[in-house]
Amino acid sequence: SILLEVHDLHANVEDTEILKGLNLTVKRGEIHAIMGLNGSGKSTFAKVLAGHPAYRMTGGEILFNGMDITSLAPEERARAGLFLAFQYPVEIPGVANDQFLRLAYNTVQRQRGKEELDPLEFDDFVREKMKLLDMNPGFLDRSVNEGFSGGEKKRNEILQMALLEPMLAVLDETDSGLDIDALRIVAKGVNQLASQDNALILVTHYQRLLDYIEPDYVHVMEAGRIIKTSGKELALELEAHGYDWISGDKTRAS
Ligand code: ADP
Ligand code: MG
Ligand code: MG
Repeated sequence: SILLEVHDLHANVEDTEILKGLNLTVKRGEIHAIMGLNGSGKSTFAKVLAGHPAYRMTGGEILFNGMDITSLAPEERARAGLFLAFQYPVEIPGVANDQFLRLAYNTVQRQRGKEELDPLEFDDFVREKMKLLDMNPGFLDRSVNEGFSGGEKKRNEILQMALLEPMLAVLDETDSGLDIDALRIVAKGVNQLASQDNALILVTHYQRLLDYIEPDYVHVMEAGRIIKTSGKELALELEAHGYDWISGDKTRAS
């Protein structure tokens, strides 16, 4: 069944149109990769899906689980089962990570009408998840994202995803400097979460991540649209031949 349907999406940052008619359909059980050159609008798309306030939708529709989520706030989208890392605060100095994670977890549990966990119960639960992801438990005592490296932030994002078990997760591999361990944790988290009931969208500039995660579809974005969709072999072709052969923009210098 269809989980996400994006139809003719247009969106602005300030007064500049960035997304110019993007179409995408994601069904349950699928993993989609969105690739494309820097500046093609991948992160903008992820942020518009999250309902980030700096991005204004100017046309089209976003149906999630059959529901128009356009007017929903980021936290309402999270309640509906959509996970995007930046729905949550980036840095909260002085708040320990385990407190932050429990707060995020319990908020979503409450919204879903499910049981909340007290600190001891949560501690068992989070440590179990961390074991599955090969994550160092020392992470729990750190201050939220304060002084986290890019790779550590990514690990924490995956841990949040593993805890919240969303229906649709959108991961933006914004950090090009992820080391191999961080990549493996991303891949583990994704491969553990993936089931026939949910779906994942991986936004990635690099083919590298797809050595560990096998997408059902690879999409290429250019100038705010998806200009090509194919199977996982497309990522390898992009790795070997770059983006120019696919580009609709014949004026671009190569
Ligand atoms: P990608 O993730 O594919 O590299 P982005 O979505 O980050 O692309 O950016 C697409 C275009 O939108 C770029 O031209 C970028 O400069 C512009 N853009 C994105 N976010 C902002 C912003 N907050 N303010 C101004 N311009 C932005
Ligand atoms: Mg970019
Ligand atoms: Mg980006």
